[in-house]
Amino acid sequence: MSETFQNFIDGKWVPARSGKTFENRNPANQDELVGAFPDSDESDVNAAVAAARRAYESWRLVPAPKRAEIVRRAASLLEAQKEDLARLMTREMGKVLAETRGDVQEAIDCGFFAAGEGRRLYGDTAPSEMPNKAAYSVRMPVGVCAMITPWNFPMAIPSWKIFPALVCGNTVVFKPATDTPASAAKFVGVLAEAGAPDGVINFLTGGGREVGAPLAAHPDVRVVSFTGSSEVGRVLARECGTRLKRLSLELGGKNAQIVMEDANLDLALEGVLWGAFGTTGQRCTATSRLILHRPIAGVFLERLVEAARALKVGDGLDPSTQVGPLVNEGQRETTASYVEIGKKEGAELVCGGEPVKGPGFDRGFFYRPTVFAKVRPNMRLAREEIFGPVLSVLTVDSFEEAIHVQNDTPYGLSSSIYTQDVNRAMRAIRDIEAGITYVNGPTIGAEVHMPFGGVKDTGNGHREASHTVLDIFTEWKTVYIDYSGKLQRAQIDNH
Ligand code: NAD
Repeated sequence: MSETFQNFIDGKWVPARSGKTFENRNPANQDELVGAFPDSDESDVNAAVAAARRAYESWRLVPAPKRAEIVRRAASLLEAQKEDLARLMTREMGKVLAETRGDVQEAIDCGFFAAGEGRRLYGDTAPSEMPNKAAYSVRMPVGVCAMITPWNFPMAIPSWKIFPALVCGNTVVFKPATDTPASAAKFVGVLAEAGAPDGVINFLTGGGREVGAPLAAHPDVRVVSFTGSSEVGRVLARECGTRLKRLSLELGGKNAQIVMEDANLDLALEGVLWGAFGTTGQRCTATSRLILHRPIAGVFLERLVEAARALKVGDGLDPSTQVGPLVNEGQRETTASYVEIGKKEGAELVCGGEPVKGPGFDRGFFYRPTVFAKVRPNMRLAREEIFGPVLSVLTVDSFEEAIHVQNDTPYGLSSSIYTQDVNRAMRAIRDIEAGITYVNGPTIGAEVHMPFGGVKDTGNGHREASHTVLDIFTEWKTVYIDYSGKLQRAQIDNH
């Protein structure tokens, strides 16, 4: 059952101006068409940005609690449609139903959390250094925001950006990844149904170069919020840098789980299986490296290999499936190429390392959960993001070495340590270079009311989710009101 989808510009569903479309197919079964979507270009971008620019002038004046009511209604509508949306998402990008339900739930949580900000958006008041003078600060909207998103969290990631941006009084042009435009269209449909005025939310499907690039470069776009690869992040950073445009980047990761000799090994095993092979390894926070303390390394690896082999790979709609397909052939090829790289580098392939073949698997992008042992920190396998079900195991002799190896990567998104020793845990929290550290939990599991983002090549210092997201989508205005009736010169008249 496939649908024909459209762009959403100025409150209307419209095809691409060129009339061109592209198709999207189920990664578990390429014979199943999910939908046809507008293959947009710069002329569609210009129309969407113009609509957003016009709408901004009235939307910014709507009181924030009223803007937030629309977001709250959208979250309620998502709640009512959760199951249908999750099933569509699994057909569109492959991850198992429990996870796509979680993805929609994250958008719901984010909607309710962002709606609460409508009645906060707190600023500061402070005493002035001059008599008869007031000083305070307020958050102002910024203008038109471009939201460019990846395919691995088709609804959660757009919700992190769009809900708070709207509550703050901005208008939006949203471009999702070409692998997940259906979930994105449903998300936009919900906002329209919830009462977002014409032009407040606009939506375009199409390629990164054809839509994403002109959108980010458009002079009327004031904020670009991007989640995706570091490679594209760098391109956008150059573009936005020369135009002095605000840019928030959420990029790649090479996250590690450390398991010390005193850890609860059952817990650590459960954690690494979920962290490495959940979403088929296609999470920015996926566990891509496992750092084992030598005293438990042998026994842990043995148990890991046995458990990874037993994971059930298949169609994400089947409730017994634990690992769905990769999102597309390119992603499977990347995974396979890293397996070859790992073998050439001298790592030991101990599990998986090949596509799943046979009846039921031929028309999908299935790949076996893969584990490499004897990985060394300088190998590409240990340094580069793979974004597939491949786990690299490194062995260390001490806690200090574990922290050093954990930090020895260009990225710094998520991290994890399993230990029962509170002193070690506290030192790890202090010394690990990452935006997120879990103690006795896997590297995945972010919650919407806590800051999300990373250090080093993972981003450029912003944090989505939590109240910290407001710093991306508002400008501070500082206000001084002088009621003394005379000129008062700060730093001069009072010294
Ligand atoms: P990608 O960078 O290829 O694409 C992301 C988005 O950017 C897509 O919508 C794409 O069409 C668009 N795009 C591509 N080229 C562009 C250009 N020149 N100008 C403007 N837009 C362009 O990433 P992907 O393959 O969709 O997603 C996987 C990547 O996303 C991984 O590196 C992963 O780590 C990262 N990711 C990061 C986070 C995080 O929060 N840190 C979360 C999820 C995914």
